[in-house]
Amino acid sequence: MSFTDLGLADGIVRAVTEHGYSIPTPIQAQAIPAVLAGGDLLAGAQTGTGKTAGFTLPILHRLATSGTPHASASAQRPIRALVLTPTRELAAQVEESVRTYSKYLNLNSAVIFGGVGINPQIKLLKHGVDILVATPGRLLDHMQQGTVNLSKVEILVLDEADRMLDMGFIKDIRRVLAVLPKNRQNLLFSATFSNEIKALADGLLNSPAMIEV
Ligand code: AMP
Repeated sequence: MSFTDLGLADGIVRAVTEHGYSIPTPIQAQAIPAVLAGGDLLAGAQTGTGKTAGFTLPILHRLATSGTPHASASAQRPIRALVLTPTRELAAQVEESVRTYSKYLNLNSAVIFGGVGINPQIKLLKHGVDILVATPGRLLDHMQQGTVNLSKVEILVLDEADRMLDMGFIKDIRRVLAVLPKNRQNLLFSATFSNEIKALADGLLNSPAMIEV
């Protein structure tokens, strides 16, 4: 089993190979085809399993192979994929992965989190972003200031959803969900499945594929 066998675009496989991966991890082998198929996904996975590439690679494939190609009118590029993570560190790490794997694609990414100035982030968002990685609190700040437009989001990822709930982000997450287009693909990754996570998943996911590693 290789990344090519999973149906990923050549530019993605090339970036992944150059990054030093040759064999998909078990979660990648399951998550990549499920996400490429376009449906919702509920994934039980700990960190260290390769879950980041598990959702990043098929999202890049879907964005790169659909939608209007954008030449230079960057301000017109809407955010098409949104990844929410519990911490700045994870947000930065996920966006770094997106950057690495998208190096041969015409897709922009950005990361926004709290604890740093908001103005550079506003500038970044104005430049046109296809894939936004964010922590919920700071994303909400941008929503309230009208500096982020989430009306064209096609794919939502809740990464480490259990940690986001543990950190008290459920209200913020619900406020974000409320402004997203109804018709979208939802991916939820969590290491544990409490009743609270199950309730979130029940409300969010439409007949999801389920995987556990
Ligand atoms: P993650 O669970 O996404 O945080 O990834 C855990 C670690 O596994 C990271 O250091 C990745 O660089 C590495 N990794 C992810 N996918 C692969 C793969 N297919 N082959 C080798 N290493 C990988």
